[in-house]
Amino acid sequence: MPGGGLVVTDVPAPTAGPGEVLVKVAGAGLCHSDCMISMAPSVYRPDGQPFTIGHESAGWIEALGPGVRGLSVGQPVVVHAEFGCGQCPTCVAGDERYCPTIKPAGGAGLGLDGGLAEFVRVPARAVVPLPDNLDPVDAGPLDDAGLTPYHAIRASMPWLGPGSVATVIGIGGLGHLALQILRAVSPATITAVERDPRRRELALELGADLALDPDDDAAAQVKARGGASFVLDLVGANETLALGVACAALKGKVVCIGAALGSVPFGLIQVPWECTLQTSYSGEPHELRELVALAAAGKIRVIANHITLDEVPAAYERMDRSEHGLGRTVAVP
Ligand SMILES: [Zn+2]
Ligand SMILES: [Zn+2]
Repeated sequence: MPGGGLVVTDVPAPTAGPGEVLVKVAGAGLCHSDCMISMAPSVYRPDGQPFTIGHESAGWIEALGPGVRGLSVGQPVVVHAEFGCGQCPTCVAGDERYCPTIKPAGGAGLGLDGGLAEFVRVPARAVVPLPDNLDPVDAGPLDDAGLTPYHAIRASMPWLGPGSVATVIGIGGLGHLALQILRAVSPATITAVERDPRRRELALELGADLALDPDDDAAAQVKARGGASFVLDLVGANETLALGVACAALKGKVVCIGAALGSVPFGLIQVPWECTLQTSYSGEPHELRELVALAAAGKIRVIANHITLDEVPAAYERMDRSEHGLGRTVAVP
């Protein structure tokens, strides 16, 4: 809605323009950041026009726009929502997610119409084909929920060698995939930090070596194992950032992905010596292809709870009250 808030409504079906494809949505993941987007849509869409949210969608190609090659109607695909203009120096350098030309009104569900709908229209270069053994209904969260931690982990491999300790804070939609990605691509000992006991249990099932309650002196327990050479904070609140720094080893790396907008003191005596603090945001289609390959090989799987489009507003209200389920909620049109 123009002034913020969510409404389920009928909109005209989009058509694919030059270089675009129309995707029939099989499933679209619900991300907590959608709550922020729907409360302040003008940040993403300064012209005040309403748009459809949803930046974790997958489905089947319904139609090809003029000039599109290498894709076929009926093919299952996952959508990379964070596309840019595709032509500016930032896009050409491989950082479409930071495209200054398309931002702030850019990306599927991020200013342009997204995947919480029956159809979504995107540039052809923004879709990644899915192999036969991956169901598109549950593949949407591979983008964002999977891709965001994947990009951060891929950029941190020097911190994830043999004997290293990785700490993941927050085992929600992103966290449940982050653990599996770490298990698949690194030999690190993985410690999960999560308040919800059901999610700690899930973390152990998904490959964490240890699942800690943050109130149970988690930092001391990580430090007892030598400290974390790599910390992934999927919450991003003051407390979790402080916990991440407290867990970090000398020369470690703390990456903040979580959107809780917290902060942490940084200085010579406030973080371990030579510790790197970094933010990270989304990823690019070539990384989404690698993630799809990991999923196709059975190394990672999206744990999804299915709802209908009509149930979406209530599901976001529960999410905003921190009443999260396990894994990712996926709307099936
Ligand atoms: Zn998101
Ligand atoms: Zn661009």
